[in-house]
Amino acid sequence: MDNTFKALVINESTTGFTKEIKEKNLSELTKNDLLIKVSYSSINFKDALSASGNKGVTRKFPHIPGIDAVGTVAESNSKKFPIGSKVLVTGFDLGMNTWGGFGEYISIPEKWAVHLPAGLTEKEAMSYGTAGLTAGLSVCQILQSSTVNSENGKIVVSGATGGVGSIAVSILAKIGFDVLAVSGKKENEYLINSLGAKEVINRNDFIEMYDSKPLAKPTFVAGIDTVGGAILSGMLKSTQYGGIVTCCGMTGSTEVNTSIFPFILRGVHLAGIDSVEASLSVRNLIWGKLSNEWKLSNLEDIITEIGLEELPDKLDEILTGKAKGRYVLKH
Ligand code: NDP
Repeated sequence: MDNTFKALVINESTTGFTKEIKEKNLSELTKNDLLIKVSYSSINFKDALSASGNKGVTRKFPHIPGIDAVGTVAESNSKKFPIGSKVLVTGFDLGMNTWGGFGEYISIPEKWAVHLPAGLTEKEAMSYGTAGLTAGLSVCQILQSSTVNSENGKIVVSGATGGVGSIAVSILAKIGFDVLAVSGKKENEYLINSLGAKEVINRNDFIEMYDSKPLAKPTFVAGIDTVGGAILSGMLKSTQYGGIVTCCGMTGSTEVNTSIFPFILRGVHLAGIDSVEASLSVRNLIWGKLSNEWKLSNLEDIITEIGLEELPDKLDEILTGKAKGRYVLKH
């Protein structure tokens, strides 16, 4: 086996952070249960934060980002995943302070891996990636609420052209919900024709509609928020009695401003979503659904496949909120 591999390496210098494609040696990876030859990774908002030097995500540089990866086990100390197993890894410390999927090899503890589900190719698995798992967790949480069904009203999804948002819109549309997509981009055709949203509202119009009121007309049976701030507040104010709003992201803001009225007058639930430390059984449940009853036929429309050379530009695009859909990195 060739002991070198290519990776996007982030370095800290006196003038800031640099992104360079470099050759690394396998001996530089921290020794762990599984050495995996990565076939695909995907590009997430957290990767963009890591690559820009955000110390809340990555403390040590030089660093190889990439919070998810799929590939083949090349060396193994695990009975569960012998050499040649196809595995899928998302979250935990991958791509944060452990070198991640933007390198052709990763070395990880076996408890971070799940078997690639039978119904997914490696590329499909990374077309979902962390964003798909998070969208799946959000949809699952919503469906557990007894008041939520497609007859009772529509569901609102924010950051709708982003990774988590676009997959959430697509899954909800597939299982029969009317979705109102909240987006800052003029992408109505994409949101309606490619993802299956019923209606689209501009992000600022949504904020304006709910900004000044402590409680608004009960409009939505549920909400999936990926951006935080005033949009999350708006969702809470406009959710029907007994409804639920999930919260997973902060591309808009890390704050949320709300009175207690949605909770005490309408019994609205606010549910936090975390994919990073989700248990193995929960991961297997969601990946099972993503590869079966929720499997999207529009994955090719949502993703753009890129190579290592294109990564630096795409990371900048994501950081500034300009990206549409998902970028999948092929090694
Ligand atoms: P993306 O960058 O793919 O998408 C984010 C979307 O947010 C953008 O496409 C844009 O959509 C919208 N947006 C961007 N800037 C703003 C803004 N200033 N105000 C409001 N909306 C904005 O990110 P992901 O979908 O990968 O992740 C979304 C969030 O979820 C991130 O904060 C990420 O860290 C978090 N996340 C959390 C996870 C968890 O386990 N809790 C797992 C995965 C992600 P549009 O233009 O359509 O409005």
